[in-house]
Amino acid sequence: MSFQTDTIHAGVGPDKAYGAIMTPIYQSSTFVFEDIGKHRGFDYTRSGNPTRKALEDSLCALEGCTSAVAVTTGMAAITTTLNLFRSGDEIICTDDCYGGTSRLMKTVEEHFGIRVHFVNLQDASNLLPFVNDNTRAVWVETPSNPLLNLVDITAVSDLAKVRGLLTIVDNTFLSPYGQKPFELGADIVVHSTTKYLNGHSDVVGGAVLSNSEDLDSRLKYLVNALGTCAQPFDCWLVLRGIKTLVVRMREHERNALAVAEFLDRHPKVKRVFYPGLPAHPQHHLAKKQQKSFGGMVSFELDGSIEELYKVLKATKLFALAESLGGVESLIEHPATMSHASMDSEHRQAAGITDSIIRLSVGIEDRDDLIADLQSALG
Ligand SMILES: *Cc1c(COP(=O)(O)O)cnc(C)c1O
Repeated sequence: MSFQTDTIHAGVGPDKAYGAIMTPIYQSSTFVFEDIGKHRGFDYTRSGNPTRKALEDSLCALEGCTSAVAVTTGMAAITTTLNLFRSGDEIICTDDCYGGTSRLMKTVEEHFGIRVHFVNLQDASNLLPFVNDNTRAVWVETPSNPLLNLVDITAVSDLAKVRGLLTIVDNTFLSPYGQKPFELGADIVVHSTTKYLNGHSDVVGGAVLSNSEDLDSRLKYLVNALGTCAQPFDCWLVLRGIKTLVVRMREHERNALAVAEFLDRHPKVKRVFYPGLPAHPQHHLAKKQQKSFGGMVSFELDGSIEELYKVLKATKLFALAESLGGVESLIEHPATMSHASMDSEHRQAAGITDSIIRLSVGIEDRDDLIADLQSALG
């Protein structure tokens, strides 16, 4: 089936009890056994739940893999995945990753002795000097947050495979509509389903996907052991969101491109970060690796920090808020908001200056969005 058809139907069959066309919310902690040692596939919701299973089957179909675990948040997805490693192991991680990811990696390093090297992976070969006998994985986030830098997943996974390392890709920014990391050699894909997959800013959720029986059984074991599983109602909301993923992503991309082109022409904007602009240094990689340029646009304001605060407060449609990927447009300041948990030294090294503003472009009318930015920029 095509991707678009899968967003509507994969994992979701008519309910076996009453034929409900929509997956019911099995809001139950436990399930009655039919006989000693015999149940109907589920015994306790931490280990498995029919609504969660429907979401996991849907995510597998969309990412093109064999196994998925749906968890409480994107950070729970990353926590669960990091539990694959042990003290003494080393991980190489993109240097401009999500703020929460870098914070968690540092905590894991301090508390559990897993060494993390933050490396600029825009050139995949930059990872080579950091590989040693203890290295286990390369953690990739592309496009990156908030600078929309890209990492060539195929190039990274080719180098990783030769050295027996796992390639782990955070695919939150594009969703499987915009990028299919397993086709490019990834071993594990993580998601914050809070963002585009759910798409309506009304749930926090996450998922870890894999393509081997070994990783599948280790991840399922960890979700049950750690208790990071997603709740039935949250799974139902994400399943509902996924049904409109394709139509939403098309509009996000169209609007983001229009906004990026507008900002690119604006005299108060020093630089625009959007992989869909031909001037983006990795525009060719974006065209090769991605099916969509996505809905995230960042820009550097040519002005003082006071002027920047003024812009952030002046927009009426773009709400001043963290997060991304919902139908409504958001504006935020990475240095004091989404990336405040990243220490300033790490932020500067990754090029996330204080003059950068990040937009999550929603699916409102694009002329209204541009007019809002026009009046805020003055
Ligand atoms: C939001 C986000 C996360 C964390 O997800 P939560 O659902 O907020 O816990 C991880 N990675 C990326 C790229 C994100 O945007």
